[in-house]
Amino acid sequence: NFVSAVVPPEEVGVKFDDIGALEDVKRTLNELVTLPMRRPELFSHGNLLRPCKGILLFGPPGTGKTLLAKALATEAGANFINITGSALTSKWFGDAEKLTKALFSFASRLAPVIVFVDEVDSLLGARGGAFEHEATRRMRNEFMAAWDGLRSKDSQRILILGATNRPFDLDDAVIRRLPRRIYVDLPDGENRMKILKIFLSKENLDSMFKFDDLANATEGYSGSDLKNLCIAAAYRPVQELLEEEEKLGKKPGAPALRPLVLDDFI
Ligand code: ATP
Repeated sequence: NFVSAVVPPEEVGVKFDDIGALEDVKRTLNELVTLPMRRPELFSHGNLLRPCKGILLFGPPGTGKTLLAKALATEAGANFINITGSALTSKWFGDAEKLTKALFSFASRLAPVIVFVDEVDSLLGARGGAFEHEATRRMRNEFMAAWDGLRSKDSQRILILGATNRPFDLDDAVIRRLPRRIYVDLPDGENRMKILKIFLSKENLDSMFKFDDLANATEGYSGSDLKNLCIAAAYRPVQELLEEEEKLGKKPGAPALRPLVLDDFI
């Protein structure tokens, strides 16, 4: 199953340029990951410069954490393995140790590789006290032991990249293993505009349409919210055309969809 979950860098299909905003985050990830993965020889002397083995992306839902992780694999030329915390704990019930070991030995063979653990809190969340399921506890311990094993083996080009909306739920031991924590924030007005320009780059927009207006009207929206908004707006002219056809009881010659206006989004 792991084999089918691995995406080679040239097939990931997302790069940093496809992500509007988050420029600081992209720069930091390039320094921490892209350079060491592409030029490991620059990091193998002395003991000050060591590639980072664990990074945590945290912040509100839909802000592009998964997108960043994928694009980073492209930039760094690394294989990409995407595992989701909640799916793992349910799927792996019972076989936790074996599968965790398999994951890590597989990752070693695939280096350079980015192992993206989405919802890392559900896999490696704080210890759940007396009611915690034994299998979950074993899985967490095994995961951390295998992770530590990687470090000592000097496997330079394996990165565990965790993402969560609930950083405070993480176990202290996990936090320590993710020494770099990067906040992925909601976009401000200027960045909402950049994201909207990406989503609407191929749409037929009315000549009066202003990106500023839409960016100002969408305060508090995440990248994912903006995408959903654009999809819904793009559907409006289609819906109108269908209604028109229904009224006329026939299809008008060559249907031309009208351009999108600001009102379609609001
Ligand atoms: P969650 O915490 O809910 O898993 P997330 O932070 O991982 O969310 P993504 O899954 O990366 O968010 O984002 C969802 C979708 O929203 C992406 O597929 C992408 O289309 C869009 N998106 C989010 N942020 C951006 C952005 N900054 N630029 C372009 N697209 C974005």
